[in-house]
Amino acid sequence: MRRAIRLVIFGRQGAGKGTQCSRLAEHYHVPHISTGDILRAAVDEGTGFGLKAKAYMDAGELLPDDVISGVVDERLRKDDTRQGFLLDGFPRTVAQAEALIDMVGEDGVDLAIDIDVPIRVVTQRMRLRGRDDDTDEAIRVRLETYEVETRPVLDFFDDLEKLVVVDGDGTEEEVFERIVDSIGRHAPA
Ligand code: AMP
Repeated sequence: MRRAIRLVIFGRQGAGKGTQCSRLAEHYHVPHISTGDILRAAVDEGTGFGLKAKAYMDAGELLPDDVISGVVDERLRKDDTRQGFLLDGFPRTVAQAEALIDMVGEDGVDLAIDIDVPIRVVTQRMRLRGRDDDTDEAIRVRLETYEVETRPVLDFFDDLEKLVVVDGDGTEEEVFERIVDSIGRHAPA
C-alpha cells in the first residue's frame, strides 16, 4: 500500500486550487479537508458555532486562530486521516501553521504546495468568471489580503524545507500533472 501522504495546498483565488485539491485527494486516496467547506457546512446546519462563523465569513474576515485551529485539530483526530490528508484553506496565518505543527509534528506534514499563478493571469480569470463580487476593486483587495496573510505562511514552510512552488499557469490537466510530478520527486511514496 502507498504510504500516507500529508499535504498542505496554497494558491491565490483563481489559481484553480479547489479543483486541484479535489483531484489530488482522489488521486492519493486522502480526505480533502477544506476549512471553508467545514465552516459552510456548520453555517448550513445552523449550529451556534455556524452562526458565529458566518459573522466572520460575511465580513470577509478570518476566524480567530485558536477557534479555527480547534476545528482542524478535531478533524485531524478522525480515523480517516491515518491514510494521510490534504489541507485546503488552512493554515492561513503563521500562528495557525505553528498550531498545525503542534498537532502533527514537523514530520507530520510532507509537503506544502503553492500553486503559483501570476496576479495578472488570476485577475483576468476572475474577470472572465463575471461574478457580482468580482469587481476589479474586490479582486485587488482579495489578492492583496492573500499576499499579506499567506506570504509569511509560505515562508514558514520554506524554512522547514517543505515548500514546493508549482507553476499553475496552464490547463487543469497540465497543472495536475505538474503537481503529481512534483510530489513524486519531493515526497516519494
Ligand atoms: P475559503 O472558502 O477557504 O475562502 O473560506 C471562506 C471563509 O471561511 C474565509 O473567508 C474565512 O472567513 C473562513 N476561513 C476559512 N479558513 C480559515 C482559516 N484557516 N482561518 C480563518 N478563517 C478561515
